[in-house]
Amino acid sequence: MHQSINGDLVNFDSLPESKGSILLVDDLPENLKLLTESLSKLGYIVRSVISGSRALKTVKAKLPDIILLDVKMPEMDGYQVCEAFKNDPDLCDIPVLFISALDEAFDKLKAFKVGGVDYITKPFQIEEVVARLEAHLTIRKQHKILQNEIVKRKEIEEILYQSRAILSGILNTSLDGIAAMQAVRNPLTGDIQDFRCLAVNPIISKVLKRDREDLIGELVLRELLENLDPELFDRFVIVVETGESLDKDFYYPTGDSCWYHYVAVKLSDGFAIAIRDITARKQTELALQKSNYKLQEANHKLQLLANSDGLTQIANRRCFDDYLATEWQRHQREQNPLSLILIDIDYFKRYNDSNGHQGGDDCLIRVAREIAKVTQRPTDLVARYGGEEFAAILSNTNMEGALKVTTAIQTSLANLAIPHGNSDVSDLVTLSMGVASLIPTSELSPEDLISQADRAMYAAKHQGRNQAIAYDVT
Ligand code: GH3
Ligand code: MG
Ligand code: MG
Repeated sequence: MHQSINGDLVNFDSLPESKGSILLVDDLPENLKLLTESLSKLGYIVRSVISGSRALKTVKAKLPDIILLDVKMPEMDGYQVCEAFKNDPDLCDIPVLFISALDEAFDKLKAFKVGGVDYITKPFQIEEVVARLEAHLTIRKQHKILQNEIVKRKEIEEILYQSRAILSGILNTSLDGIAAMQAVRNPLTGDIQDFRCLAVNPIISKVLKRDREDLIGELVLRELLENLDPELFDRFVIVVETGESLDKDFYYPTGDSCWYHYVAVKLSDGFAIAIRDITARKQTELALQKSNYKLQEANHKLQLLANSDGLTQIANRRCFDDYLATEWQRHQREQNPLSLILIDIDYFKRYNDSNGHQGGDDCLIRVAREIAKVTQRPTDLVARYGGEEFAAILSNTNMEGALKVTTAIQTSLANLAIPHGNSDVSDLVTLSMGVASLIPTSELSPEDLISQADRAMYAAKHQGRNQAIAYDVT
């Protein structure tokens, strides 16, 4: 150990170790001399004074570890000097040993009363003096160690008190629920049986509807989770055993709140948990989800509306155009045949004339449904092409296939048997159909397919209606 004295470094460890410092007070110089010599030889630092008043004056210059005090002295006797020492807070802890000649009137009781710890009678044996001195010095040393321990303990207590105050301040003012749990293990297997609640704040106790006093120090977790979510107990065990923290949302309806977010982290042989009420956030999220869903639904409806025909509910012209363009590209890439059927109701003007516009509309709806029913492949599309005209796009279908579809449509419509009292070809509603089929190339366009089908349809009209005519472009 190094310490600076007057700027010089003194290494105390290298100094010969002193056994202790002694203040000798005796009015007889020969006594002082004898004791000083004997004790100095034995390794004590000895200071001697020849009167009580001298002792009181000089003692504070360097406090001794022990005082040897003669009883009988002129001016102040030993008792008075001792009393003066004991009344001074700086000196009262220094042990005082009285020395008195046997022939002197020596009151041993008084020696203890005024604060002396021991007495030695003259003539003395130096060994006895040393033995007694050492005993008291040891006691004094131990007393000092104890005193230091007490001071340290008080400091630690203060730190602990302050930490507790800080912790309870945080716990009590936190808007989040906070708790600390300690694992309680089976002594034989070491498995976690339950958790003891070490700390909870008011928020947790409110959420659990339990007084803090009923939670702190108690084995409550297993019981609490049994009603909530028994799996959660095992998850907390995993947190403690693996050290991996847990971060989750939790549904637990209490009062106005029902959604909580919690974070559990390992804390010594247990875990700490923080819980936050996220009901408001969750409700906003759910409302947002709901309105998103509604928006999607509305979008979907809008899309349907934009792509379907208001009267017949099948695809409209716009949808037809889009689908034909897409399918054209795909068939061109894959080099597969694409067919188109244009369908026109025969003498429909006359139908309207005899059945009224409303009757005409009903007929359009029935015909549309019938055509849609016949073309069942998911890649087929039936659309209302114009007033009383329909179109069917048949993907991956050649002319042969397309003609089968026209036959099926005709059969189906014949079965439906919608009366038409004013047609030149039948007494039922009939259709004229133009079919075109091709494998798309970059030299051709969807319009070529449409115009071929249109021409075929015109031919069907021309050749007597109620029939399908095909133009195989390939
Ligand atoms: P064709 O056999 O040559 O096809 O004779 P058509 O009378 O069917 O042909 P035209 O093109 O001369 O007349 C089509 C009629 O279809 C005209 C119109 O009265 C009727 N029409 C078109 N759209 C609708 C509609 O939305 N509802 C009703 N009720 N009738 C419609
Ligand atoms: Mg027409
Ligand atoms: Mg017509």
